[in-house]
Amino acid sequence: MNKIVLMGECMIELLQNKQTGQIAGQSFAGDVYNSAVYLKRLFPNIDTQLLTAIGTDSMSDAMLSTFSSEGLNNPLVFRDAERLPGIYLVQTDDQGERSFLYWRESAAARQVMQFVDGSETLNLSAGDVFFFTGISLAILEKSHREKFWSLVNDLKQQGVKIAFDLNYRARLWSTLEDAQQQFANAYRVADILIPGVDDFQQMYPSLCNDAMEPVHTVIEFFQEYEYTELVIKNGEKNIIVMTPDESHEIDVQPVTNVVDTTSAGDSFNGAYLGARIAGKSLPDATRLAASVAGEVIQHPGAIVPKEAFKSF
Ligand code: ADP
Repeated sequence: MNKIVLMGECMIELLQNKQTGQIAGQSFAGDVYNSAVYLKRLFPNIDTQLLTAIGTDSMSDAMLSTFSSEGLNNPLVFRDAERLPGIYLVQTDDQGERSFLYWRESAAARQVMQFVDGSETLNLSAGDVFFFTGISLAILEKSHREKFWSLVNDLKQQGVKIAFDLNYRARLWSTLEDAQQQFANAYRVADILIPGVDDFQQMYPSLCNDAMEPVHTVIEFFQEYEYTELVIKNGEKNIIVMTPDESHEIDVQPVTNVVDTTSAGDSFNGAYLGARIAGKSLPDATRLAASVAGEVIQHPGAIVPKEAFKSF
């Protein structure tokens, strides 16, 4: 059985009641965590592990219990006695538009590399998958970058498949150039690239113009890299899946009742990677991922309650 390690940050999520200003709900969320949850719900036999750090406080205890209740395997969730998890507040205005306030600069997850001695720590073998995103890179303590890239390169040499989604969030980066440089390192090692067109356009505005469909710009951009799978998420329009030998355009059933798109890309990534590990073909994995994302966006919040999550 194959295994997947997803590296990144899970945060405490607070929902604010707009009428009273009171905190109306609390849960846990974060891009790779969301992907891990959906992957495990869909493919319970896949050993799914987060590589992250949390604190030793009571909220971190609750977070770890939630990981376990979702079936995640947690040998790589490290406890940092000096730090706490990051936190964010979701506010909804009168039009239903959501906005977010974050407190994550000193989060334990930023320092996760202090717990990683080398690729042995992750205990992955050839054929397993290591997944991270542009958010994982953005939050990583800068002085740990060299150690991180050396870890990723070692994993790659051992035959572990490297998967990457851009998830570019401008406010997490000091400059666009810094993000572009870090992302280029990821493109050079990635076997599986899962970019969203919107993220790409924000990341490379000078490459995008009216002369070419954005999705073609994305295909052209990644031509110089040695990926084995390129999956381009284009919102409700379609998904393009490519390998060096084949290419498929997969239709998306547009959802009319969109409630919250927060976790569209994350749930897509989890379902897609799980399906590929489980041996599904590229088109089948993509179709499943699109239907899962289409379901997730009809519910509020990043993680759909288990009872409400349709079986696929
Ligand atoms: P990302 O969040 O990574 O930028 P997208 O916004 O393209 O990615 O959304 C991820 C996936 O969610 C899409 O590939 C699609 O399958 C699904 N999706 C997004 N918006 C819609 C929609 N309005 N109707 C149906 N499916 C959607």
